[in-house]
Amino acid sequence: MTKTIPVKKNDYIDVVFEDLTHDGAGVAKVEGFPLFIPNGLPGEKAQVKVIKVNKGYGFGRLIEIYEKSPYRVDVLSSEIHKYGGCQLEHISYEGQLKYKENQVRQVLTRIGKLENVLVHPILGMDNNPWHYRNKAQVPVGEKDGKLIAGFFKPRSHEIVDTDESLIQLPEINEAVQAVKEICNDLGISAYQEESHKGALRHIMARYGNQTGELMVVLVTRTEDIPKKNKLVEEIIARLPKVKSIVHNVNSKRTNVILGEKTTVLWGSEVIYDFIGDVRFAISPLSFYQVNPVQTKVLYDKALEYAGLSGDESVIDAYCGIGTISLFLAQKAKKVFGVEVVPEAIEDAKRNAELNGITNVEFAAGEAEVVIPKWYKGGNSAEVLVVDPPRKGCDETFLQTIIEMKPKKVVYVSCNPATLARDLRILEDGGYKTVEVQPVDMFPQTTHVECCVLLKLR
Ligand code: SAH
Repeated sequence: MTKTIPVKKNDYIDVVFEDLTHDGAGVAKVEGFPLFIPNGLPGEKAQVKVIKVNKGYGFGRLIEIYEKSPYRVDVLSSEIHKYGGCQLEHISYEGQLKYKENQVRQVLTRIGKLENVLVHPILGMDNNPWHYRNKAQVPVGEKDGKLIAGFFKPRSHEIVDTDESLIQLPEINEAVQAVKEICNDLGISAYQEESHKGALRHIMARYGNQTGELMVVLVTRTEDIPKKNKLVEEIIARLPKVKSIVHNVNSKRTNVILGEKTTVLWGSEVIYDFIGDVRFAISPLSFYQVNPVQTKVLYDKALEYAGLSGDESVIDAYCGIGTISLFLAQKAKKVFGVEVVPEAIEDAKRNAELNGITNVEFAAGEAEVVIPKWYKGGNSAEVLVVDPPRKGCDETFLQTIIEMKPKKVVYVSCNPATLARDLRILEDGGYKTVEVQPVDMFPQTTHVECCVLLKLR
């Protein structure tokens, strides 16, 4: 017997929200049947309209709130900023932190089957959790004969023109606007996805918050940029902080932003920034943490968990431009960094040199290929740091860790679900999850970062 579904499309019903999903929607249950409703907050009583009903769950729209959550705050023109990544802007910062911490606890129990693991209160931003991002990649389109740039509407290919993002640093907003206006004035065409015609696909900007150095990257479909010299001249005139103007060619039909060919149009091939006392060169294609203030908080925690005395060999897997590696090198005997993007490894080597750090070695390749090779060749480490992308660690790599038996593993994660999955594998392989420190790297968004200490049992 199938259970009857208690709601149908277009019903208006009264609910009480119980929870938030990982993408920030409110969850309400009608006779146990879950409805997901954007904008609803736990504890709120509201009227909702059912808009879609599936077998095990449905979706609705918030119609009227009868009783508001104490964490609800007023938002301006919320739609636009929600597209731009501010999914939680209707929740006070205190409420956002509570939600993220809660989510970490829930996921570790549900997916990781980790009961009673020590999860510390999340470390949020002390000051103004807005305008923090040091990087933007903004899609370009055309509307009524004008070049526009902004955000994609969710689940669509439509671009909404915007003149500011509330989570970008002012320098980034300013750079994107200036480049958009210059390209528009020069009549540079925008890329059109459907016909695969037009030139400019994305405007990208990166900013070194400690050095005041700006990089502008123009991503085009075409090998040539129309009116290139004039464009460069104008960018330099409008943006005095610019140190590097780069051209990236992406001629493929793809939603991947950057293509394979990168050339410097003007200035330096990298910009510099500092995290703590360590200076970093950042090239256009390399990963670099986007919240400079919280990056320091996160890396300090990783260093604390590594607990180095100066005698240890350390492996930093997924090392990017060597940021964590160079932090660790100040306290370790030797650090080995691995990263799949060759340009990032070039940056990492340059960064070691730049800081006079000689006890590090970097290798380009996949962690799951390079580290097993090292291990078979007799190279091991007492401490292993991993900081994988959202999909988490490759299972073969986790098996290598279990065989290699480093005393400590420090797991830095930007996705609690894959973190929980990987912690379970490491627990089953002989590790104990000692403590978990969530850090809010991405205020106003649903993203959650964690730093975790594991020890060999
Ligand atoms: N620890 C660095 C980078 C973390 S982001 C920092 O804090 O700045 C994750 C990095 O993993 C990216 O640089 C990405 O290019 C790299 N990466 C992705 N898959 C990989 C793999 N299979 N092996 C090694 N590195 C990988």
